Amino acid sequence: MKRRAYIALGANLGEPQETLHAALESLKSIECCELIGVSPFYKSAPIDCDGPDFVNAVASIDTELEPYALLLHLQDIELMLGRKRRGPGEKRHAPRKADLDLLLVGSLILRSTPLTLPHPRLHQRAFVLRPLLDLDPELSAPAIGRLDRFLDEVADQRIERIEP
Ligand code: ADP
Ligand code: MG
Repeated sequence: MKRRAYIALGANLGEPQETLHAALESLKSIECCELIGVSPFYKSAPIDCDGPDFVNAVASIDTELEPYALLLHLQDIELMLGRKRRGPGEKRHAPRKADLDLLLVGSLILRSTPLTLPHPRLHQRAFVLRPLLDLDPELSAPAIGRLDRFLDEVADQRIERIEP
């Protein structure tokens, strides 16, 4: 069954904008995936970690892939783009070259350790919410509801749109 999925892309080491463009190219080449939309890019201050600003964006795809298969593809892309696997004791939010998170896969709800859907922090991060709503202003998430309701709650998080 074909579903619309949304993927958050982020990078803050190396050349973040180039990393995001490379990630988008890789998304296009995943089997059974059609790239539907790409949001504007945003710069955001790191949350819970040090280092340079992040560049963030959201992409939407149509896919027949099951969510776990999709997650494995995203993790492959992270590794290919130079992300190192987190070592023991390393901070969860350590600076990274590329982070690809699965935000939504259709109306699926999943609560497992390797994959939680919708992504649990989806509506709490301006750098995810803003580009997601750029793509689809009326988007709702299962178990969360209309996402534009949360914009006020993240209004104090500094993000800056990068002009193309
Ligand atoms: P984070 O993205 O939270 O900063 P990581 O990218 O290191 O941290 O992800 C940690 C783990 O989160 C991954 O190993 C993955 O299995 C799990 N995970 C759970 N739900 C999701 C999701 N919706 N998208 C991506 N990863 C997820
Ligand atoms: Mg991640």
